[in-house]
Parts: sequence; C-alpha cells; structure tokens
Amino acid sequence: MSDNKDKLKFGTRLLHFGAEIDKTTGASSVPIYQASTFHHEDIYNPPLHDYSRSGNPTRQALEDYIAVLEGGDRGFAFASGMAAISSTFLLLSSGDHVIVTEDVYGGTYRLLTMILNRFNIQSTFVDMTNIELVKAALQSNTKAVYMETPSNPTLRITDISAVCEWAQSHDLLTILDNTFMTPYYQRPIELGVDIVLHSATKFLGGHSDVLAGLAVTRTAELSAQMKMLQNGLGTVLAPQESWLLMRGMKTLEARMVHSEKSAIALAKWLENRSDIEAVYYPGLENHPGREVHERQSSGYGAVVSFDVGSGARAKAVLNLVTIPLVAVSLGAVESILSYPAMMSHAAMGAEVRAARGITDGLLRFSVGLEAIEDLLADLEQALVGACVKL
Ligand SMILES: *Cc1c(COP(=O)(O)O)cnc(C)c1O
Repeated sequence: MSDNKDKLKFGTRLLHFGAEIDKTTGASSVPIYQASTFHHEDIYNPPLHDYSRSGNPTRQALEDYIAVLEGGDRGFAFASGMAAISSTFLLLSSGDHVIVTEDVYGGTYRLLTMILNRFNIQSTFVDMTNIELVKAALQSNTKAVYMETPSNPTLRITDISAVCEWAQSHDLLTILDNTFMTPYYQRPIELGVDIVLHSATKFLGGHSDVLAGLAVTRTAELSAQMKMLQNGLGTVLAPQESWLLMRGMKTLEARMVHSEKSAIALAKWLENRSDIEAVYYPGLENHPGREVHERQSSGYGAVVSFDVGSGARAKAVLNLVTIPLVAVSLGAVESILSYPAMMSHAAMGAEVRAARGITDGLLRFSVGLEAIEDLLADLEQALVGACVKL
C-alpha cells in the first residue's frame, strides 16, 4: 500500500485496502481462486502460490486486508476463530505456562482446560481488571499472557498497555482476542500486543453466514512462526469463505456505528428499569472499566449484557422476544440474544460460571441494524411478559 493510502481514514481504507480491484481484469472484487494447486509453467521459476494450504490468492488478499486494518506485519486466515486461537497457542511448547483472562471466551477456556492441558501447556486464569493479579500469576515457566477486552459476557476491561509493558519486561508473548471491538474501535498492536486474534465469524463477517478466524502478528519473526503453524496444522480458511469475509468487512464501519448507537440506547434504557438487576456495557457512566476502556478504544461496541434476575425469567424472555435471533454468536446485521449459561459458556462448570459473574439470569444482547424503537418495544413486551409468567 502506498504512503498516500496509509494516510487515509479507517472507513476509506476498508474499501481501498489494496486488492479491491483485480489487477488482471479490473473486476470490482477479488476473484475466488477455487483451486487447490498451481501449475509450474517453468520448473525453475515456480508460481507465487504452489498449493492452497500454503497460500491462495483469495485468502492472501484477506490476510493482507486484516494486517492493514490492525496495523501489523502480517495477517493469517483460519477456518474459525477457534482454529486461529488454537493454532496461536501452539506457539507454546509442553511445560510452558500462560496467564489468561478469567472470563475468557468459553471455547478458549475449553481448549486450555480440556485439550492443551493434556500436552502440559499450563494456564492460570486471573481477573485482569487488576494488574497486580496478573503479576502475581507469573511463574518461572510463564511464556505468554492472553487477554480479551472487553471480556465475554460481562464486558470487563483489561488495561492493554499496562499488561503489555509488564509482559515485555518479562519477555512474555502478549496475545489479545479483539473480536468484540474489531480494529475499527481498538487496535491492540498499537498498544504493544504481539498477536491479535479474531473470531471473524462475528463483527468482521457481520452477516451470520461465514465461520472464520483471523490473526495478525506484530513482527516478521512472529509472522514466520505463525506461517509455519498455519501451514503445518492446515487450519486455513477456504477461498469462498475468504471472499465472503472480505465482502462483509467492507461495511464494518457503517455497521459498527449504527449498532453502537443502538447499543448505547439499549444500555441506558435497561439501566433505568427497576426489573433489571445489572447492566454491563463499557459505555455506561458507572462501568468500572470505562476510563481504561476510553483510553484504549474509540468506541464501546454493540454488545450489552444484563441480568434479568433469575434463570427462569431469562428463559421466559428468550421465548418471548420476536425480533432478535435467539442463538449463540454475535456481531451480525440482525440482533442476537444469547444465554451464556446454557450456550457460549456451557462448557464452564456451574461453579466457575458463578464465580465469574455469569449468573443464570444473564442475557447477552448483540445489537444489529434493526430500528432501535422496534428492538426496545419487543424487549419491553418480553420483559413484562416474563414477569407475568413467573
Ligand atoms: C465466537 C468467539 C470465538 C470463537 O470463534 P469461532 O469463529 O466461533 O470459532 C472466540 N472469541 C470470542 C470473543 C468469540 O466471541
């Protein structure tokens, strides 16, 4: 990308990212190179890509795209967010230890506690809102710190720069799951993070129609290691999915701006209701991490979690809403209402869930592009109905 393009605003770069026009035909989107292998016209002069696990032009365009958006050295596209996360954890070796944010995504928790533990990759989960607890978790074999901020589903905030500064002083690799904020609101590499991860299934894809994961590395050395893992593990994203993801990413800013505006309205509306026990949203005045969040992010995102008081009422609300999808996942054009205790965080034992504030009454609302008036009216009837039912 030319120097001139580097100066462009984020929204412009989303559309003019380098591969937006096909160089050979002038076509207005990257072609889907649905090929597994590439012909060697001259055996002494091999083609740029030789086999699609190792490299595919459509996937490459996507990988360059996310690297530009996150401001890193190189991007990598994987078959899912968990494929990106698990491949990244394999930078570690048997006997290594990693410090992980306590209310990490449920699938990441399962990976660490049910799979990587069998390979003697050890993990300690800490409340990262308190840097002293992060420091106290350091062991002689600690190799990495894994952050997720805002965390899922209680939207707790980790001070990214503070953790990175400390981690660097101990030669620890820093990894951050940036799914909730996207590079539109938060660019962790600029704050010192070594590897940024995404479930691109969520806001980056944005349409609940593609499963994908992305990683961006800060240095050429890490890029080489990551490339070896991606190729060696074969956890790559297919060309069709790569294309679909780029199509969704072009509207990232427009979607985030609209959804965030509605999310702020929803959070305030919930906060003023007497039948809601708690509302978690970093944009609320009383959110404990608001100040730190505002230092490291330019927005609050589109996910609002709230506690309706009990598991029975939460289930009643889920059955009464008529507009949002009642489903796992988030970050789409349509609103999605999920129930962490029975969905995303079901892999966590009930005791661990309770300790992490994932109560039976907790619902997570990912705000889509519907008219906010309709979303509020629908939630109102569901909340009122769920009281009557009890
Ligand atoms: C969904 C999600 C993941 C996992 O991604 P998949 O694409 O479902 O594999 C990881 N982290 C966060 C924060 C997520 O929301």
